[in-house]
Amino acid sequence: MITVNYPRSVVIEEQGLRDGLQNEASVVPTAKKLEIINALVDAGVQKIQVTSFVNPQKIPQMADAEDLCAGLKQHDGVVYSALALNPKGIQRAARAGLSHVTASISASNTHSQRNAGMTLIQARRQLSEMAAMAKNSGLTLRAGIQCAFGCRHEGRIDPDTIADMLKEQLDQGIDEIELADTTGMADPHAIHKICGSALDLAADMPVYLHLHDTEGKGLANALAALQIGITHFESTFGGMGGCPFVKGASGNVATEDLVFMLKQMGIETGIDVSKIAAVSRSLEDYFDKRFSGKMHHLMNRDDIKIVG
Ligand code: ZN
Repeated sequence: MITVNYPRSVVIEEQGLRDGLQNEASVVPTAKKLEIINALVDAGVQKIQVTSFVNPQKIPQMADAEDLCAGLKQHDGVVYSALALNPKGIQRAARAGLSHVTASISASNTHSQRNAGMTLIQARRQLSEMAAMAKNSGLTLRAGIQCAFGCRHEGRIDPDTIADMLKEQLDQGIDEIELADTTGMADPHAIHKICGSALDLAADMPVYLHLHDTEGKGLANALAALQIGITHFESTFGGMGGCPFVKGASGNVATEDLVFMLKQMGIETGIDVSKIAAVSRSLEDYFDKRFSGKMHHLMNRDDIKIVG
């Protein structure tokens, strides 16, 4: 029997509203999004990424960011956040009344050029501008590194590059770190190595891990991360999502699958699995498709026993 000190509780940020809905062809009305957000709060989710402040021409699904923020109900302990990819996005998030924003740049030069139209050097320079702007606007900033575990064009990213980017961001006064496996190329060893070095650099700062299940290693990677002390995750209901600008990308780790595994391991999240599963099923009906997650289907069957 191997003894591992797993954390007693884990924080999960639900990102389906952004990472999930941005990949759907149809644009979900603002009122429907608010309905989903309220259902997530009811399920016990305390951190919700509700939208992204990006070019509405590029991502029309997020064009209602301001209206959506205006319709958010405030609850004790619930933090709404958004993704921003440039200084204008930070400005818009602040004006929309949010208190938290994630500013994300890619560790891959090719992905950065295709996704953000900038070289890695330009993106890093821009992030420092965004960090200063977030500070001046009183926003809490999570700085995200996309493709931290590999890029479909460039392959593996040198772990020293990731560490170097992190050091730079920490110097810029960020509040939280996010490592994103945008392409789903991470494996448990890479998680140990790259997240381990991020945890060392972060000291007490939260390190969020954003996992995709593209190669089927999503939960294995989550487990590897738990083993070395990662206690913050980002996931999406039903495992919705992908990246519109990443070749061969597929869904995130499903929130209900992650919460279910953690619950079985005795790790607290405060999230009700069956309520998240219900959100996923209602969205499958809405989009008339099946999502890649597992538990939302299993929990809907009355012919089998679920032990959780
Ligand atoms: Zn993602």
